[in-house]
Amino acid sequence: MTGRASAASPPGAARRAWSAALALAFVLAADAAAAARRPEEPVRIGVLAQRGMEEALRAWVPTARHLGERIPSRSFAVVPLAQSELSDAARSGQVDFVITNAAHLAALGVEAGARPIATLRASDDHEYGSLFGAVVFARSERTDLATFADLRGKRFAAASRDSFGGFHLAWRELARAGIDPDTDFARLGFLGLPQDEVVYAVIAGEYDAGTVRAGLLEQLAAEEKIDLAEIRVVAPRDPPRFPYRLSTPLYPEWAIAALRTTPGALSAEVMLALLAMPRHGPAAQSGGYRGWTVPLDYEPVRELLSALRLGPYAPVTLDDLWHVARRRADWLIWGGLALAVVLGHAVWVEALVRRRTRELVAANEALRREMAERRDAEDAARRHHEALTHVSRVSLMGEMATTIAHELNQPLAAVTSYVQGCLRHLAHGAQGGALREGLEQAARQSQRAAGILESIRGFVRKAPRRVERVDVNAACVAVRDLMAAELRERSVALDLALEQAMPQVLASRIEIEQILVNLVRNAAEAIGEAGASGGRIAIATRVLPGAVEITVSDNGPGIAAGKEEEVFRTFFTTKADGLGLGLAICQSIAEAHGGSIRLERGAEGGAAFSLRLPSVAASDAGLLVAAQ
Ligand code: ADP
Repeated sequence: MTGRASAASPPGAARRAWSAALALAFVLAADAAAAARRPEEPVRIGVLAQRGMEEALRAWVPTARHLGERIPSRSFAVVPLAQSELSDAARSGQVDFVITNAAHLAALGVEAGARPIATLRASDDHEYGSLFGAVVFARSERTDLATFADLRGKRFAAASRDSFGGFHLAWRELARAGIDPDTDFARLGFLGLPQDEVVYAVIAGEYDAGTVRAGLLEQLAAEEKIDLAEIRVVAPRDPPRFPYRLSTPLYPEWAIAALRTTPGALSAEVMLALLAMPRHGPAAQSGGYRGWTVPLDYEPVRELLSALRLGPYAPVTLDDLWHVARRRADWLIWGGLALAVVLGHAVWVEALVRRRTRELVAANEALRREMAERRDAEDAARRHHEALTHVSRVSLMGEMATTIAHELNQPLAAVTSYVQGCLRHLAHGAQGGALREGLEQAARQSQRAAGILESIRGFVRKAPRRVERVDVNAACVAVRDLMAAELRERSVALDLALEQAMPQVLASRIEIEQILVNLVRNAAEAIGEAGASGGRIAIATRVLPGAVEITVSDNGPGIAAGKEEEVFRTFFTTKADGLGLGLAICQSIAEAHGGSIRLERGAEGGAAFSLRLPSVAASDAGLLVAAQ
């Protein structure tokens, strides 16, 4: 129908609304009597208003009236709409039928399920009245332009980029020949409607070739506006008896289509009514057509749109998105909210995981640092302790010099006295037994002195002590013998209360004796300081489960209350010439043997020091005996 209508009024929103109302009113008024009998809604026919609303009404209202007459049970209303509005109305079910061109119909078939029920006859031509095509042409002397492929690199004119008959049909054939109009032409001009301008521009030599709907050239020639001899058809086609020059396949004309929601029975009634329409009746005359025929195949149109990516196959543009957004604002809002919630949740979870991971990493790092610090601290403490121990041993050594002298003085004095005794015996001519006994005693005392020295050296150098099986009772007897002379001097008695069948201990005999000597001497000194006569010291032994205990008690003044712990501290002394090392050394020796030394209150009011040492189990003792 392109170019069929002559007048076009400028469309406007207000005018459009008014026209629609007018059309409805007009049709309803025309069928007022029938409408009074039929309370239901009128059947709405949306028509493509290509040339303005008034022109559309003028063209189509008689068709609606024809339908109303043929189908008295219904009334029909014409709703003229622009293409996009008609698409919306079809999609949303606001119209029951659409009358539109082939390209739009094919698009609506995809978008709104539109199915043609009758194709319009544009002319009386029996064979081709419902078909149309396009012609591509050049000036007659351009013999170089024989096929579509020859148009590459040439200047090409068409009416409009959106025109189906005026551009798309030729474009489809150009595309088949591998030509992209936008890139493969030297110039592509869209000269606007009417299409006549394209014909004139090509004849004037402004373009090498152009395309218009088939039939226009013959029409212009009939009007004597052009001479067909000036024209040469590019890639001509010649279907038998087709009346016009042609370069493209033929496509079906406008159609009326039913929509998804249109009842089938109504579609059939409308179809029959249209097929029955007289070709030259008032409706056909007003519409500028020649009645209707059975629906033709619109698949080639759909294929064309698909190949050229037009209509429903066009790439999505921002404009489309904006339209969808406006139409589906509510969905978008809810969808957006849902998406925001999902995304928000995902982001929140992600953030949480990240934070936790960070915290974990930090915690691990802190833990590692702390462990490293602790290890360093422990190392430092150990080194410090080692250094301190060494220093304290060395300094203790210095401090002990006096004590050592004191300790050694005893055996040395004894040696001296035994040797002098022997000398005296010799001077008196003595022989044998008395001399031997004196010398043996001297030898024992010097061994003891050597033992003390060895023990002190071991203490300082950390030399491993020589452990042996020690009979505790025998050690007590030895200490009594050692101290006998000194105690006699001090008038202090020493009693032994030894338990029979004492188990042995694994120990350094010298060190155990050293402890006992120390305890006995301290007791004697305490008694001596008190100045009381009748001083008594007792050494008692007893068996404990898995241990033996040796207690040295005295009837001296005892330890002042509150000083029980202090007496074991190094350098704690109450004596004018004391060093305060004796008990500290005793304790360290006891502990080195896995034992302990404790202060208790003595039975006679004085002090009592108990040395406990782990005893050798019977089996161990047996082993020792066996090993010897
Ligand atoms: P020192 O004999 O050089 O003073 P010790 O470590 O052997 O060093 O003894 C520390 C202190 O413990 C002594 O000065 C004394 O006051 C007290 N002490 C030790 N044994 C007795 C005891 N049997 N009776 C009373 N006081 C004692």
